[in-house]
Amino acid sequence: MYTRLFAPAPPAVIAQGLRTEDMARLVMKFGGTSVADIDRIRSVARHVKREVDAGHEVAVVVSAMSGATNQLVAWCEEALQERHIFDAREYDAVVATGEQVTAGLLAIVLQDLDINARSWQGWQLPILTTNAHASARIVDVNGAELIQRFKERKEVAVIAGFQGVHKETGRITTLGRGGSDTSAVALAAALKADECHIYTDVDGVYTTDPRLVPEARRLRHITFEEMIEMASAGSKVLQIRAVEFAGKYRVPTRVLSSLTDPALPVEQEAQAGTLITFEEDPHMAMEKAVISGVALNRNEAKITVHGVPDRPGIAYAILGPIADANIDVDVIVQNVGHDGMTDLSFTVHRTDYAKALKLLKSQVQPHIKCRDVTGDDRIAKLSIVGLGMRSHAGIAAQMFRTLAEEGINIQMISTSEIKITVVIEEKYTELAVRVLHKAFELDQE
Ligand code: ADP
Ligand code: ASP
Ligand code: MG
Repeated sequence: MYTRLFAPAPPAVIAQGLRTEDMARLVMKFGGTSVADIDRIRSVARHVKREVDAGHEVAVVVSAMSGATNQLVAWCEEALQERHIFDAREYDAVVATGEQVTAGLLAIVLQDLDINARSWQGWQLPILTTNAHASARIVDVNGAELIQRFKERKEVAVIAGFQGVHKETGRITTLGRGGSDTSAVALAAALKADECHIYTDVDGVYTTDPRLVPEARRLRHITFEEMIEMASAGSKVLQIRAVEFAGKYRVPTRVLSSLTDPALPVEQEAQAGTLITFEEDPHMAMEKAVISGVALNRNEAKITVHGVPDRPGIAYAILGPIADANIDVDVIVQNVGHDGMTDLSFTVHRTDYAKALKLLKSQVQPHIKCRDVTGDDRIAKLSIVGLGMRSHAGIAAQMFRTLAEEGINIQMISTSEIKITVVIEEKYTELAVRVLHKAFELDQE
């Protein structure tokens, strides 16, 4: 029996940066590039040591070394010859090993620095998940043993991210790409940590991907609502489930760079990066930008079903079989019908593109008797995100005008309360991101 450690925290306002005098409990997460080789792991250990020396209780969550997960996935694919899909339980058994290696290595390096450290795999705590192998969700984390060791032995816990265990089957599960972020936030919730620090290869959340637009600016704060929309629109700096978790359990989460000098004073480190915060926090009122960021996603493809009879049940007849094949659908657009006929377009993940197209042509087309099914995998999805959209009119018009001025055709549009998404031709991605970034003055403080 496990004690349920998760309980949504009361809706208090999140602390503004860590106090430096008090002892705090921290979860520090280091992504793939931050642990890419032994030198980097040593540097990570120094970041950990700084917090330990400051008197904090520390749990560290690590990703696999950069490229390791890709290699493991590639081996699974190579191993399969006759069948189309592999057993997801065995896929998890393979890909979970990447994080096991880093956790052990970091514990060795920490011990080398005279820090009492111990590594943990998901099943050992345990981190309990659903049974959805390869994209499992965390349902509970038992942090009791770690807390006891913080108190009794001043021990640093190093936890393999990305992996957990299914409660009933006892099998190892993994959380989907980027899942270590979610491991860290869930652990922080379970440990009732004061802050969860996500260390990565950029020093915070930017107005757009800084690798694409050099003028991108670091945001000192961003709300959970906006971060969820940014993540879902393709900003992979944080896994979307991690942000959802942080919002639900009120985990103060900060994105920081692991590439900074580990000897940076704790006070400075505590003010660096980007704090994910709540709209009602006083300092959010200070940052009044209407749009907070531009997100892009080049991993989708568009499918159009042409000339379908415009009658009840048609959308279901098309998208039902897609859902049954476990294919996620994103932007959906149905045209206004003419003469009882219409077109339906939607996007899917690029890895599902061929499968979806085949399924529609072989099963759906003969059934609903549509004219044609076509597709395009050279598209990009671009989104602007901002809480200010709720109170400002004309944001969509400004976005469309900016794209029109560059001669960029909009193929699909979808909106939420704080996000506008367009689908465009892939070759215009960089241009579109740059002009939107400028049009909404995101390059200006
Ligand atoms: P990690 O391996 O540490 O988990 P990721 O590669 O998952 O790191 O995420 C960090 C990367 O996210 C950055 O290198 C950056 O290119 C990309 N990124 C995309 N959008 C943004 C954004 N708005 N702000 C910061 N980084 C972004
Ligand atoms: N190693 C996993 C991945 O590459 C999980 C993570 O890094 O968060 O997606
Ligand atoms: Mg990541």
